[in-house]
Amino acid sequence: MEEKATEISTIGEFGLIDRLTRDFPLRNKSSLKGVGDDCAVMEYKDTEVLVSTDLLVEGIHFDLTYVPLKHLGYKAAVVNFSDIYAMNGHPRQITVSLAISKRFTVEHMEELYSGIRLACDIYGVDLVGGDTTSSRSGLIISVTAIGDAPAGNIAYRSGAKDTDLICVSGDLGAAYMGLQLLEREKVASAGQKDFVPQFSGKEYLIERQLKPEARRDVIENLAKEGIVPTSMMDISDGLSSELLHICKASDCGCRVYEDRIPIDYQTAVMAEELNMNLVTAAMNGGEDYELLFTVPLHAHEAIRKIPGVHVIGHITKPSIGAALITRDGAEIPIRAQGWNHMTPD
Ligand code: ADP
Ligand code: MG
Repeated sequence: MEEKATEISTIGEFGLIDRLTRDFPLRNKSSLKGVGDDCAVMEYKDTEVLVSTDLLVEGIHFDLTYVPLKHLGYKAAVVNFSDIYAMNGHPRQITVSLAISKRFTVEHMEELYSGIRLACDIYGVDLVGGDTTSSRSGLIISVTAIGDAPAGNIAYRSGAKDTDLICVSGDLGAAYMGLQLLEREKVASAGQKDFVPQFSGKEYLIERQLKPEARRDVIENLAKEGIVPTSMMDISDGLSSELLHICKASDCGCRVYEDRIPIDYQTAVMAEELNMNLVTAAMNGGEDYELLFTVPLHAHEAIRKIPGVHVIGHITKPSIGAALITRDGAEIPIRAQGWNHMTPD
């Protein structure tokens, strides 16, 4: 069956905005007016407001040869929610801005928005606006998320103190391995018509790359336990890089233990296949969107009750720097080797 392909010019910019945004209900009290006027209107009472923006450029941040548009929409929204959770807040609204090149149809954009809608449904966030324009090369998506946190609850990067415990949620390195796998299959498929990619036994890696989740559950469980992290951020560029950010912002050092870094079995298998050092991949692979945070020592018992949270080390005085303690007790200075989209090939 031929897929329907409606050129965007046939319905125009306003027609497109209408098609894309009509099925987005407003469900947060703070959303007074969504799409349809010159501005969205929000009312935030007795709370601090969090704002975060991400810009995603085709060919730099995503590759549509293996990323389905629905997944792209989902991920673009979720990674912004992750930034709000990483401040110990809750996302309430997003705006989505698009620059679209000629090769995209109305149906393509509807696919993208079906992913955004799914993310909004699952995380309880309202789409309240955006902007739409054309592009000469590829697709560009900018998402802004707005959220809130009660005054005094916001977790900055700058609050970690000597002896605090360092915690991470979930496991690390899987999204990076998923990307390696997708890239490998892309190369293998070049020029082949009926290519079937080999993902069997590696589904988790693909899911972590294509459909990441933000750790709302951890934020809710921290609140339940009455814990406000002394510092927190989400792991988008790799654990090493994020640890150094916290150490710099908090003027401290850290010790993390190699044998405590949570790694999934599939990540380990893939690292072996690719002849990569597993711990290096887990420390430096990007896009896990797990939470990295610090808590005072006395919170240890409460932290142990939270599913999926691991204590991986502790904060130290700044003078001894940031280091990884290997299984055999050696100290290796932590360096940021996080992938950097701005680095030319
Ligand atoms: P303006 O001329 O003020 O930029 P637009 O005609 O671009 O307004 O947008 C009309 C309405 O549609 C506004 O409420 C705007 O926020 C919303 N909007 C525009 N593009 C998008 C988009 N890609 N996604 C969601 N909302 C959008
Ligand atoms: Mg506009």
